[in-house]
Amino acid sequence: LPDRLKGNDKSVWVEYIQLALKYKPLNLGQGHPDFYAPENVTKALADAATSDNPFLNQYTRGFGHPRLVNVIAKLYSKLLDRTLDPNNEVIVTCGAYEALYNVLQGHTNPGDEWIIIEPFFDCYVPMIRTAGGIPRYIALKPKRTNGGFLSSADWIFDRQKLESLFNEKTKGIVINTPHNPIGKVFTLNELEFIANLAKKWNTLVVSDEVYEWLVYEPYKHIRIATLPGMYERTITIGSAGKTFSVTGWKIGWAYGPANLLYNLQVVHQNCTYTCNTPTQEAVAVGFEQELERFGQSDCYFVSLAKELQPKRDYMAKFLSDVGMIPTIPEGGYFMIAIWTALKDKVRLEEETDENKDYRFTKWMTKNVGIQGIPPSAFYVSEDKHLAEDYVRYCFIKKDENLKKAADILMKWK
Ligand code: PMP
Ligand code: GLN
Repeated sequence: LPDRLKGNDKSVWVEYIQLALKYKPLNLGQGHPDFYAPENVTKALADAATSDNPFLNQYTRGFGHPRLVNVIAKLYSKLLDRTLDPNNEVIVTCGAYEALYNVLQGHTNPGDEWIIIEPFFDCYVPMIRTAGGIPRYIALKPKRTNGGFLSSADWIFDRQKLESLFNEKTKGIVINTPHNPIGKVFTLNELEFIANLAKKWNTLVVSDEVYEWLVYEPYKHIRIATLPGMYERTITIGSAGKTFSVTGWKIGWAYGPANLLYNLQVVHQNCTYTCNTPTQEAVAVGFEQELERFGQSDCYFVSLAKELQPKRDYMAKFLSDVGMIPTIPEGGYFMIAIWTALKDKVRLEEETDENKDYRFTKWMTKNVGIQGIPPSAFYVSEDKHLAEDYVRYCFIKKDENLKKAADILMKWK
């Protein structure tokens, strides 16, 4: 490996997807639904691919298919209460991954520092490092760890510590709300605190909001780009995979001011150049249809979270019935839980990984038939110990499969 890629060889996704293929557990690991995507978008994809318009199967505009950037700009203009220029303030990418990559490559000079909140979606760090940047870390920590269920709202960052990380080398901070894997939905007060530091130190904010529509009652998603003086310095990232439950389509986007998006365009045009046309067309149709019923109970942006909330509650109940201590997420479709009450039932010594959560999740996959993700994958080496008592499960699954998971765990316990 070239030097700049050294240290990036381990990926929890590569490893755990392989493990799932080999042992065929009930898979609550990698985050994706196990049910059909909404029919209006899958039909729109079939229509696009078989359309009379031959160009819908050919290359489209590099920075985003016109129909898609137009509707993305329309949607976020409404949500941000400002007019976004579809051609210069929106870019379509191969999943949110590519948007993150374009931002971090496009805005990092060697030695630039990025502040990262642990646990973090694992790719942020290799993306920063390969660009020559330096990640600086601050952890979300639970205010308490006993006394029954925790809420993701209990997971907070130390404000003084965050303040101390900002300095003249800080290029920006990456935030993720709703948060993977904790499920935290950052409060207005927390976002204002972050925004004020970003303004004080004149830094960027990268806001990974791929779970923006997955927020449970009574919580509300707040876009940091809407806070005073923040649009100018914020790049916000979204994902069609999460928005329309089509993770395999790998369409994402970023929006923000034209001068900041320009750098993303430069990376994109020399990397993927343009994304898949028919899926962009279908996502555009999906957005157009949701915009027509925006805010109504049948709008997918409303109905999906409603559908998931009982699944979340069911999972919290069965995890706690087997002795785990779940953190109830305010958003997203993951739940973390402390598994250590079950430690006498697992033979961790049969696994060789350094971190206990890796050993626990591997042992469970092989011997009990349930797969979760080890949350220490979302921490830097020095901090992995913070996550070893936890496991992450995904609950965007059919009720019958959640019931199966509950039965497997209850029988084993
Ligand atoms: N950010 C977060 C927080 C995620 O959980 C994911 C996983 N989907 C991504 C970004 C990447 O999204 P995509 O599948 O659209 O590339
Ligand atoms: N975002 C999803 C998760 O956290 C999928 C990640 C991936 O495929 N790399 O599980």
